[in-house]
Amino acid sequence: MDKQTLSFQAEVRQILHLVTHSLYSNKEIFLRELVSNASDACDKLRFEALDKAELYEDAPKLEVRVMFDAEAKTITIRDNGIGMSAEEAVQHLGTIAKSGTREFMARLEGEQRKDANLIGQFGVGFYSGFIVADRITVETRRAGLPADHGVRWSSEGTGEFEVEPITRAERGTDVVLHLRDGEEEFLSAWKLKSIVSKYSDHISLPILMRKQKWDEEAKAQVDTDEWETVNKAAALWTRAKADITDAQYQEFYKQISYDSEPPLAYTHNRVEGRTEYTQLLYVPAKAPFDLWNRDKRGGVKLYVKRVFIMDDAEALMPVYLRFVKGVIDSADLPLNVSRELLQESRDVKAIREGCTKRVLGMLEGLADSEDAAERDKYAKFWKEFGTVLKEGMGEDFANQERLAKLLRFASTHADEGVSLADYVKRMKEGQDAIYVITADTLAAAKSSPQLEIFRKKGIEVLLLTDRVDEWMLSHFYEFDGHALQSVAKGAVDLGKLQDEDEKKAADEAAQAFAPVLERLKKSLESRAKDVRVTTRLVDSPACIVVEEGDMSAHLARLLKQAGQSAPASKPILEVNPAHALVKKLEGDEARFDDLAQILFDQAVLAEGGQLEDPAAYVQRVNRMLV
Ligand code: ADP
Ligand code: MG
Repeated sequence: MDKQTLSFQAEVRQILHLVTHSLYSNKEIFLRELVSNASDACDKLRFEALDKAELYEDAPKLEVRVMFDAEAKTITIRDNGIGMSAEEAVQHLGTIAKSGTREFMARLEGEQRKDANLIGQFGVGFYSGFIVADRITVETRRAGLPADHGVRWSSEGTGEFEVEPITRAERGTDVVLHLRDGEEEFLSAWKLKSIVSKYSDHISLPILMRKQKWDEEAKAQVDTDEWETVNKAAALWTRAKADITDAQYQEFYKQISYDSEPPLAYTHNRVEGRTEYTQLLYVPAKAPFDLWNRDKRGGVKLYVKRVFIMDDAEALMPVYLRFVKGVIDSADLPLNVSRELLQESRDVKAIREGCTKRVLGMLEGLADSEDAAERDKYAKFWKEFGTVLKEGMGEDFANQERLAKLLRFASTHADEGVSLADYVKRMKEGQDAIYVITADTLAAAKSSPQLEIFRKKGIEVLLLTDRVDEWMLSHFYEFDGHALQSVAKGAVDLGKLQDEDEKKAADEAAQAFAPVLERLKKSLESRAKDVRVTTRLVDSPACIVVEEGDMSAHLARLLKQAGQSAPASKPILEVNPAHALVKKLEGDEARFDDLAQILFDQAVLAEGGQLEDPAAYVQRVNRMLV
């Protein structure tokens, strides 16, 4: 291979433009990113060498060195990790493999644009070097390749980069930053050390810097030949809880999550028993942009006996807890465990169960705390992640009861934050069921005619407006001995909630209405499964309900939107015989039929549905108006 000049992929050019033109705060994170890459490279070597020990060549001790040259104005980050072949250098340093780049750039252009901290989150940390450097040179050789298979990669961070072959005796990588004018503050041992200890203390490899000594003649600190370790070099989670400060836990969270906000809660435990492992798990304060993607891998890193095995080990957490970030370090799993193996392992199953319980415990701790500030945190959590947690109601039956207690809803009593326990406490004398209604929006739910009688009687109804709610209800039937009952399904049976007079009045009205009902049934034969009298309506003339066991109209709409054909089952029309409009149902066949159809169409509209033939509806209404 000769020296070649190649172009960066378009996305990389965009990233580079943003990096060099808009990131002004937290510039120092470039060192964190490059040290983290160096540490990843060592982890990769250790992993590949598990069954290929010769990759260690003659240097089994993995380490990272940070050096600077005040005269040349360079900072070098050196590692003896896996290194890169020429193809890998072109690939890894010239293109972005990961998705999410567009979202990343949208964010950088948005409110948080100046914060360099964001950069690592999207797997483009290497380019953060260009925040402080106007040229980066990378010299590298992949472990196991001959010395003359080294490569030098170099770029000014604009449109192009160069690659050329070099000879390099040591495996691993040197990243040399040629600092821009004005960035000289980083050419100081003290400064670099303080950045390393701020961001990279938890890196489990030693990070070495040259020891300095005072030179009388030069009147300055100068380098000696001796090296010292400048980080703690012990993975945070392996240290005793008592030796870790809250600030250190928070900093570690930032490193693994790249979240600019502190976590809401965390838990750190060593679990002993049939399987032994350490867990350090965090609940973030903010949902990531791709939370909805159920295929997204989880945020938990897997280590085995302190050796990094993989990022995003999804088998360690149920899908509905995919927002949890952290580390699991297992003492039992084999080092060569693969994703496939993880899926089947009994140890992993035990770890997943243990972690799920811990996370639920953390959430309960917030939700049930004596401390109002903690409960506020739970409310915040619910806003961000509540809909995801609801998925657990249908996926994790073993924990359904615990999850149910964590659910929060809007209701006819409060717009948010209603727990099922709150609801049960407020139930009326004689009320058995927990009443719910599903709708597309809170406004639609609130104005639903089906709620009228409940309002009148002061009975609380939970208003469910998340897409996942319908699905959740198909897996969740009762809480604390009370059945969940949709007010839009089946006939309302207020049972003991209705007094004798009301029952009598309703019976009489139904009898008097019987002849009209027969006519209505005939007119609506093709559209309604049944027409019946109801007591659930107060202000509305009619409403649509579905039979118990049939799919709700709301769910049918959701499925249709999702491109699935929903089996069409005819709804039931319920009419309020006391309503003025219903009393007007009379006249010759044609007029009666118009009124009947209007009644039905309006009930569909009120429920948030769409008319099959809107033009016909308009014509009928117009006939009435003139
Ligand atoms: P990420 O670390 O999230 O993958 P980066 O932009 O930080 O993204 O790095 C891009 C890629 O470049 C890495 O995934 C890795 O393949 C390669 N790379 C970067 N630094 C090193 C290094 N010191 N040794 C080996 N490979 C490296
Ligand atoms: Mg990186």
